[in-house]
Amino acid sequence: MRKLLASISVAVLLAACATNPVSGRREMALMSEQQELAIGRDMHPKVLQAYGEYDDPALQAYVRGVGEKLAAVSHRANLIYRFTVVDSTDINAFALPGGYIYITRGLLAYMSSEAELAGVLGHEIGHVTARHAVRQYTAATAAQLGMTLGSIFVPGLGNNVAQNVMGVLGQATLSGYGREHELESDSLGAEYLAQAGYDPQAILGVLRTLKAQGDYATAQAKAEGREPQAYHGLFASHPDEDTRLKEVLTKASFLAPDTPADDGRERFQKRLDGLVFGDSTVQGIRRENRFYHGPLDFALEFPPGWRLQNQPDRLLAIAPGGSAQAQLTSQDLNQRETPREFMIRRLGIRNPAGQEISPAGLPGYSANVQLGGALARRQGRVAVIFHRNQAYILVGVAKEGGDAQAADRALLQTALSFHPLREDERALAKPLRLRLKTAAPGDNFAQLAKGSRLPGDATAQLRLLNGHYPTGEPAAGDTLKIVR
Ligand SMILES: [Zn+2]
Repeated sequence: MRKLLASISVAVLLAACATNPVSGRREMALMSEQQELAIGRDMHPKVLQAYGEYDDPALQAYVRGVGEKLAAVSHRANLIYRFTVVDSTDINAFALPGGYIYITRGLLAYMSSEAELAGVLGHEIGHVTARHAVRQYTAATAAQLGMTLGSIFVPGLGNNVAQNVMGVLGQATLSGYGREHELESDSLGAEYLAQAGYDPQAILGVLRTLKAQGDYATAQAKAEGREPQAYHGLFASHPDEDTRLKEVLTKASFLAPDTPADDGRERFQKRLDGLVFGDSTVQGIRRENRFYHGPLDFALEFPPGWRLQNQPDRLLAIAPGGSAQAQLTSQDLNQRETPREFMIRRLGIRNPAGQEISPAGLPGYSANVQLGGALARRQGRVAVIFHRNQAYILVGVAKEGGDAQAADRALLQTALSFHPLREDERALAKPLRLRLKTAAPGDNFAQLAKGSRLPGDATAQLRLLNGHYPTGEPAAGDTLKIVR
C-alpha cells in the first residue's frame, strides 16, 4: 500500500509549481488553479445531494452574508465563495476546493453568536485560501483508497451517496487536515475575523463548544457501554486541544481590533429560533429504538437498546455491544412484481428460500441469504416490504462469532414491526426545534429538561446548547436555547 501511494504522489508532484496565495511563496502544487476550481464545481452538487440544503432561505442568506464579509478580506478575495447550511445533525463544517463552504445545522445549533459563526466560516475560508485540499491531494487519495465504512454490503442495495462523496473528497475534507494545516486555518480565520470587525477570540468560543461536545460524546458512550469514538468534529485532528487553545489565543491577541466588536449574539440567536434540532422531517425521526418517517408514511421498531444512526441514504441500527447490525434502505418500485421477485431481480439474490411476510398487511418477503462484499459469505437476513410504490429493504447480520440466531430473530421481529404511520404517531414524526426562552430567576437546566423530548441526557444537552456544559446554570434574564 505504501509503495503504491508513494508512486502516485511522485507522479502528481511532477505536475506543477505555483504561488501559494497565502504565503506568496512558490511551492509544489499538485494541481492547477483551474483543476482546483473544477473539483469544487463538480463536487458541490454531490455534497448537496448527500446532505441536502437546509430549507430556510432567511438563515441561508444570513450565513452567506457573514461568510461574504470574511471572504472579501481573505487572501483569495477574487474567488466567488458559496456558503451553504446543510441539513445534517453532524457537528461539522467543511470546504471544497475553490470556495464552496458548508456548515451543518447541527453545528449552528451549538454556537452562541455571529462572531462564533464567523470563526467557523473564517477557518473554512482559511482551508480554501491556503489550498489545503490541493496540498493534501495525495493524502485524500490515500483516504479514498483505504476507505472502508462499516456498512453492510449486498449487491444492488441503493447507492451510498455520502460514501461516494467521502470517497472522492477523501477523509480530510470532512474530518480535518492534520494539525499543521488546522492551525494555519485557525490563524487565517482569526486574521479574517479581525479584518471583518469581529473579535478573533470568538474562535475560542467555538473551540470550547467543540471540546464540550467531545466530552459529552465520550461520557455518553461510556454510560451506554460503548467504546468512545474518536471525536470527528471540526477541529478533530488536533491531538491536544489545550495547546491549540493557547496558540490560537496568542495569535489572536495580536490581531484583536482596538474597539471590541459587536459579537452579534442577539442577531444570531434570533436566527436560530425555530431551527430544526436532531432529525428532520425529510430524514425521518428517531425516537430511541423506533423510527418514524412522515413523508414516506411508515414506522418501524428495532429491538430495545439498539442504537439508530440516520444517514442520508440509509438508516443504520446497531445492537448493544455491536453484537449485530442492520440497515434499512428504500428503492423505487418500477414494475409489478412480488417482493420475492424484487429480491431476485433487484438485489441479485439467487433462489431466496424464505417466507412471505405481511407486516400490517403489506406485501413482504424475508429470507436468510449469504452476504457478499466485506461480509464474505456470512449468513444474514434480508426482508423486502412494499409500501406506496417503494421497496423497503432491511438487511442485518450478527457480529462475526456472535449469536446469529438471536440476531436473526431480532431482525425478523423488526421487519414485522414495519407499518404505515398511525394517526397517534403523526406527532412523533415531527422534528424537534430550538426555541428561545428568557431565563426566569431560579431556572435551572434539570428543571428545563423535564418532559423534554431530547434523547439521551436532556439536561446535559441543554447545557451544551447554552455553553454551560458540564455543570453551569443559567442566570435570570439570559436568553436560553431550549428544545421543543
Ligand atoms: Zn479545519
